[in-house]
Amino acid sequence: MLSQEDTRPLRQQVFEQVRAAGHMPRMDVARTLDISPGSVTTITSDLITRGLLQEVEDSQRGTSRGRPPIALRVAPCSRFVVGMKLSDERHTAILLDLAGTVIAEAQLTSGALRQSTAEVLAEVSTLIKKLLQKAGQEHDSISAVGIGLPGIVDAGTGVVKWSPVMTDTDIPLRELLMEQLDLPVSLDNDTNLLTLAELWFGAGRGTSNFVVVTIERGVGMGLVLNNRLFRGALGPGMELGHTKVQLDGALCRCGQRGCLEAYVADYALVREAGTALDRDPRSNSSAVTMIETLYEEANAGNEAALAIFRRAGRFLSVGLANIVQLFDPERIILSGERMRYDYLTTDDMLAEMNSMILPAGRTPTPVDIHAWGGSVWAKGAAALALSEVTDALLGENAA
Ligand SMILES: [Zn+2]
Repeated sequence: MLSQEDTRPLRQQVFEQVRAAGHMPRMDVARTLDISPGSVTTITSDLITRGLLQEVEDSQRGTSRGRPPIALRVAPCSRFVVGMKLSDERHTAILLDLAGTVIAEAQLTSGALRQSTAEVLAEVSTLIKKLLQKAGQEHDSISAVGIGLPGIVDAGTGVVKWSPVMTDTDIPLRELLMEQLDLPVSLDNDTNLLTLAELWFGAGRGTSNFVVVTIERGVGMGLVLNNRLFRGALGPGMELGHTKVQLDGALCRCGQRGCLEAYVADYALVREAGTALDRDPRSNSSAVTMIETLYEEANAGNEAALAIFRRAGRFLSVGLANIVQLFDPERIILSGERMRYDYLTTDDMLAEMNSMILPAGRTPTPVDIHAWGGSVWAKGAAALALSEVTDALLGENAA
């Protein structure tokens, strides 16, 4: 199989391999990275001298006689990274140590659906304080911060071109955050970060080519090709939600018509739920409450409610069939809190999806469903911060 060459320095690859595995004997490191045991010994003694790795007894492989075998693990230390997911309902933050262990989690209810840059900056600071307080740590124990938010985010420049959670556009958010926090900050589209979390900690481990599709307030997509996140030429990420599934179709919040999101996302379901449940359009129940009610009605056998979910599921099947036809991934992971609404992903929906994919009768692409909450998104953001820290310590331009 064609594989993209890993251009990171070997010491960084060794460190990240051990961190991903938790603990690993030297011979396994050599085998996984396909390098000589001698090189591994040289590199790991350097990493041990620098206080980044340490030796531990490999209890899992203990033998009945002689010295127990030795494994490597990331040395415990007092440095941490923060990962944060910003959304229109509540922001979630997580504190990880450099070995990737979760130290603390915190949440903050967002002040409004869409906020000004100043409001977002203030909430990020408040949430970091809350997180540190929970962990009993000080601000100067943080090495880096990673933040994910929905919308069109240029990960290279750290500019948010457009986000459904912010009122301003073209905001140099990373620069503003670095100034405010006095820390290195990395910024990316939230679905890209969730995809990184799947790649590093989740179902994507050991899978070279896969797709993550998220359904929340919008519909997002992350694509891993040859073990790397694919960002496209301009880097805004994969906007699956705004691919067209109907000419002159339903109006999308982007202003165009016929986008997949306009049939599948929260606001599409809410629009129809208002009619099906005969709600007063002036009632100000939140989108989440409205969809919860719709789901309860569907479970109670309300045909109109069921039909709304079924229709959304059929449009989703078109979107997923197009992904398989274009990229032929090893698996598709459907993620996000809305995956609890199982009517979106019934066997009928999967059968309809497979019926649209050519050639007929091909082996169906596995579809996994992960109904995860905000902390997994935040973990992806922390993973990004962690890789930035590792880059600074061990990467090409490191001292
Ligand atoms: Zn759209």
